[in-house]
Order: sequence, then structure tokens, then C-alpha cells
Amino acid sequence: MKYDVAVVGSGLVGKALALLLAQETHYQVVLFDQTEVSVHKQSVPMAQMRYQDAAFTQSPWAVSALSLSSRAILQKLGLWAQLVQMGICPFAGMEITEALGAGQLSFSTSDLNENCLGYLVYNDLLADLMQKAIEQHECITQYQRHRLQNIRMRADRVDLSFDRGQYSARLLVGADGKHSRVRELLGISVTGGRYEQDALVCQIKTQRPHEWVARQVFLEQGPIAFLPLTARDGFDPMWQESWPRACASEQYSSIVWSLPQNQARDLMGLSCEAFKRALAAHVPTALGSLEHCSKLAKWPLYGQSANNCVYRHAVLVGDSAQVLHPLAGQGLNIGLMDAAVLVDLLSESQQEIGLVHSELFLSRYRRVRKLHQKSLLAVTHGLHVLYRQRDWWLILGRNLGLNWAHRCRPLKRFLVKQASAHRDYLPKSFWPYHQQWPF
Ligand SMILES: Cc1cc2nc3c(=O)[nH]c(=O)nc-3n(C[C@H](O)[C@H](O)[C@H](O)COP(=O)(O)OP(=O)(O)OC[C@H]3O[C@@H](n4cnc5c(N)ncnc54)[C@H](O)[C@@H]3O)c2cc1C
Repeated sequence: MKYDVAVVGSGLVGKALALLLAQETHYQVVLFDQTEVSVHKQSVPMAQMRYQDAAFTQSPWAVSALSLSSRAILQKLGLWAQLVQMGICPFAGMEITEALGAGQLSFSTSDLNENCLGYLVYNDLLADLMQKAIEQHECITQYQRHRLQNIRMRADRVDLSFDRGQYSARLLVGADGKHSRVRELLGISVTGGRYEQDALVCQIKTQRPHEWVARQVFLEQGPIAFLPLTARDGFDPMWQESWPRACASEQYSSIVWSLPQNQARDLMGLSCEAFKRALAAHVPTALGSLEHCSKLAKWPLYGQSANNCVYRHAVLVGDSAQVLHPLAGQGLNIGLMDAAVLVDLLSESQQEIGLVHSELFLSRYRRVRKLHQKSLLAVTHGLHVLYRQRDWWLILGRNLGLNWAHRCRPLKRFLVKQASAHRDYLPKSFWPYHQQWPF
């Protein structure tokens, strides 16, 4: 069977891309994944989580900080309101501190003229929502447990071989993550690679509420982020008028602790109590003492970008195109932006020349995305390198720099816009969704 667009990889970026294509174009889309993509039968909200003092009983959920542009994309897909009901946590402040010194930089909603700076969402809830929407779209065909094995480029199409069959499409999109088989089969090399750090992820309960502030502390070993979560099954619309003051009682946070691989391994091997003691030493004073801790998960960290994101009738999006250190919390945001820009150009190409694999439009995609992808990669990698330096003059410079940035309002505005909004990179058709929205 010949399709218009074949998307290989049904992670959050592949799913969003398939949905946007189905909504914005008339193309027949086929979505493949090597795993079985099932809707989680029951997504357990934080409120139902049974924390126990003595044991790590619950595996941590993967959570992502989403920017206002990602919200606009999900709004255009008609998924945002449902996601809010299922459980998101808006945050109204960001604090960055350096453990070696007194450097501190903080942002608030007044720096962005928005009612929040971003949202913490549970990845599994978002994936479930997208999966349900995909199942309702007639122009999306989905094949699960299909592992891509080979690609043959023809003049007018791409032939794809999977372990369970052969398919053809006029355009191939690789959304198959950081170890992309699509990228490898197309012979596209990458710059960068595995960091010598792993990230430990867990959820915690602290004595004091997080007050809707996302905090990041740069420790000697690496950054540790405390990301606010809501303990409720959904964000109560009644709170909106008085938010964030009214419900400042939330005490759950998600932790992303990046540190050298051997230290991460040692911490994974600790008992619950011993790990709590190790973590408690780094919990910001504003959160009080550490009360509970979920099970730990470990993620290898990468910083890499594909040296080309377009090759003949094939395009790379999401982690297959670039992987960022999570210290900036931007990997998913940039992947959703890849999807939005690509679909915008494909719908334009469909209207103008009726060709899904027009080289003109695909090279435009490469041009439009290059600056955003490269600049975010450079910033996150630069911060990673800078904060690993132990020279006293660099430590002093970092602290002075943070404090100076904190006092320099135009710079603060610029930085928070880059971290939270990205509107300049969002296609114009998404702009109406970028307006202030209750939540
Ligand atoms: C600790 C941590 C914290 C993070 N926090 C944030 C954050 O706060 N904010 C943010 O924006 N980002 C964050 N990120 C980054 C974010 O999670 C990723 O950028 C994003 O999930 C990538 O999605 P993706 O769909 O591109 O790739 P993936 O999620 O990796 O999906 C790839 C899909 O392709 C499939 N696949 C692979 N190979 C094949 C094949 N050969 N054939 C068929 N299918 C295949 C896989 O099964 C998978 O389903 C974080 C990352 C980490 C590690």
C-alpha cells in the first residue's frame, strides 16, 4: 500500500506529527512503532499515590516541562483542555541557584507578561490522549510491533522494509528517537553523543509547598531540578481566578538529578533511607525537609544533533534530529516545534504545488529549523560544560553572571522568552493559540 507520509516512531513527537498532518492536510498518513502502543488503562493521579516512608514502592512517572508554544500546538490539536482535566501543573516562577556560591537568578510571570511560565505534564497522560485521538482519525493508519529494517529511495517514493512487511510512501519522517534507525539507514551522521552523566528521576514529597516554582540547583556533580507537580487529578478550574495564591499547598515535586555515571550507579544501589539522606542535603530551603520519595529511574544523557535533517524524500524530527541535555527541559518542546513547522510547510506545499515531497519545501524546513535547533543545543551544551568547571575564577564568574542577569531586566525578559515561549519559531497559523489562556 502506498501512503503519502510514513512516520517511523510513535513517541510523543511522532504522534503529534501524525495528528497535525491529519488535521491540517489531506494526506494519508501511516505511523509505525517497534513497540506495542497501548493506552494506559488507568493513569494513577498523584493524589492516589501511596507514599511509604520505608520503601520505594512506586516507579516515577516521566514528566516534561512544556513551553507556551507547546501548549499552543496541543491547543490547536484540541487536546489541551482534556490534558488540563487529567492533570497538569502550571508554574509561575523559576529559580536557578549555584551551590558553590551565592549566585541566584529567578524569573516570574511579570518577566513574560503571561499568567504562567510553563507547565509540568505527565508524559503517559499526554501519550494516552494522543493515542486516543489517533485511533479516531480515518486518515491515520497505525502499525505496531513494526521494526524498521531497510529503506530504499526511489525517484518518487520511499520503500520501507519492516520485520513484518513492506510499505511505500511519498515522504518518510524519522521520529524514532535518539538511536534513530531512519537516520542511520539514510547515512546521516551526528555531532556530539553520550554525556558522561546519567539523570536520576524520582518524585518526592516535601515538608513545604513548592508554591508553583520550578527550581534548579547547580551542584558540583551536575544540576538537580525540582519541578512542581499537582497532587490532584487535574487542575481545578475553580482555582484559576486566584491562582497561584489559592492552592499553594502542593508538596509534590519531580526530581531530575544529572550526575556522573558512577555516582548515579552508586545512588541507585542505596537503600531508600540512605538515598533520602543523600537527596535531602540538596533540597532547597524553600521546600523544607524531604518527607517521601518514590522509586528511582535512571536515564542516560545525550547531547547530539544530526548533521542534516533532510535527505531526498526524508526528514528527521524530535530526538532523531537533536537530543538536548535535560537541564533546559527543552527536548520535547523542540520536537513538537519540528512537527508544527514541518506540517505548516507541507500544507503550504500541498496548496501550492500538490507535492508532499517537494525538495523546495523540505529544504525550507531545514533552513527554518536549523537556527532554533543549533542555538538550543549550543546553549544547553555550553551550560553543561560551564557548570562542570572547577576553577575558582570561573565559579566566581558564574555567580556574578547569575546575579547580574537577575538584576538586568531586559536580559531576564530575553532569557525567559527563550526558555518559555519560543513564539518566534512557531508558524504563524499557530499564533492565535499562543495568546494568554486561563490554563
Ligand atoms: C530525564 C529527562 C528529562 C526530560 N525533561 C524534559 C522536559 O522537561 N521538557 C522537554 O521538553 N523535554 C524533556 N526531555 C526530553 C524529551 O523527553 C524527549 O526529547 C522526547 O520525549 C523525545 O520524543 P521523541 O518522540 O522524539 O522520541 P522517543 O520518545 O524516543 O520516541 C521514539 C519512538 O520510536 C520508536 N522506534 C525506535 N526505533 C524504531 C524502529 N527501528 N522502528 C520502529 N520504531 C522505532 C520507539 O519505540 C519510540 O516509540 C527529557 C529527557 C530526559 C531523559
